[in-house]
Amino acid sequence: MTKDQLPPRLLTRRRALLAGAAAVGTAGTAGLFTTFAGDEPVRRAAAPTSAPTPAAGPQARSALKPSSYRLQPLTGFGPPRAAPRRTLVRHAPMLQVNGRGRRMVLTFDDGPDARYTPHILDTLRDYDIRAMFFVCGEMVAENGDLVARMADEGHVVGNHTWSHPLLTRLSRRAIRSEMERTSDVIEDSCGERPVWFRAPYGAWNRAAFQLGAELGMDPLAWTVDTLDWTTPGTRRIVDRVENGAAPGVVVLSHDAGGDRSQSVTALRFYLPRLLDAGYHLTVPERHYA
Ligand SMILES: [Zn+2]
Repeated sequence: MTKDQLPPRLLTRRRALLAGAAAVGTAGTAGLFTTFAGDEPVRRAAAPTSAPTPAAGPQARSALKPSSYRLQPLTGFGPPRAAPRRTLVRHAPMLQVNGRGRRMVLTFDDGPDARYTPHILDTLRDYDIRAMFFVCGEMVAENGDLVARMADEGHVVGNHTWSHPLLTRLSRRAIRSEMERTSDVIEDSCGERPVWFRAPYGAWNRAAFQLGAELGMDPLAWTVDTLDWTTPGTRRIVDRVENGAAPGVVVLSHDAGGDRSQSVTALRFYLPRLLDAGYHLTVPERHYA
């Protein structure tokens, strides 16, 4: 049984999670989208008024007039705890990306794996394309050189936990360990801490969103699942990508966790065809840094 294979019950749960999140996405909730970095200027959320307003923060507090009761706040009404919030705590992962034009994001999970990841990196380099790799800490520990190569070649390295557990079954302390250790080993390998994370199996919970935000990471899910982990054949993987292609789509594939030779070969087929169809394959830019 490979890493991303799930018993039917969990598959159902994943579908339910995705369906629920997709419904929110369809409703056009701004928080579920992000913008792209690329050759066009990125419209950053520079002014606070142009960004979705976070919950009460320093600006909100500074607008309040001082008063005696605020100098001695009642329990529960004081200023927010001192812990710095480095990024917005979300209640759902982003499922797609926003931006002008026919833009898509390719993501590869569970690696790096010395058998497959180098081939994927080679293909991306051949076409001068940047992608995202959601890596597992225990894989990084053995393949740190590949994470360094990802970063060197302009790809985005995201946090996919240390050992790929179902986070919804873990204590908060265990989730923190899974995420924190992975950010540490990524930083050791490429010099930068990740700013994106993705829950294994797409199984998110409140603790994962909160801890991810504390660690400075935004949650990114996906729009199109190639189901490549079921080894359905190269042709089917190619078809799923091409049939799912649309502006803003985030594609999920895997470069580890089992035999990923079909995923490696499929990329060589669909990547040039997406480019021929006018898609611009790139990586997202965060609103909140
Ligand atoms: Zn995974």
